[in-house]
Amino acid sequence: MEYIDCNECELHMNPFIENRLVGETLWQFLTHVEKCPECFEELEIRYLIAEALGRLENGESIDLKNELYQKIRVTKRAMYFHYFNEDVLRILEIISMIIVSYELFGFLSHFFGIVF
Ligand SMILES: [Zn+2]
Repeated sequence: MEYIDCNECELHMNPFIENRLVGETLWQFLTHVEKCPECFEELEIRYLIAEALGRLENGESIDLKNELYQKIRVTKRAMYFHYFNEDVLRILEIISMIIVSYELFGFLSHFFGIVF
């Protein structure tokens, strides 16, 4: 998984707000925003402006800041599950490799009469 820098992150801000980011790009974006206070602040401003304009037209007023946190958390949780499964498979692969080499090692030491 590659990481993106602040410039690239900024390019993804408007697509994110408009729910147009998907897949790995979305994951990279969220990961960067979570770790980078500057980008988070920038995203916050853009989100508030974009949402506020929409709300003004509809005459609504809600806790927008909280909604942005929710949006980030919910999206990341949904994606986490996808990547979590991939990680589990990789770990299982490694474990089975360890077991195989351990058994091979035991077999060889038995064969040569060596006790480790
Ligand atoms: Zn950044």
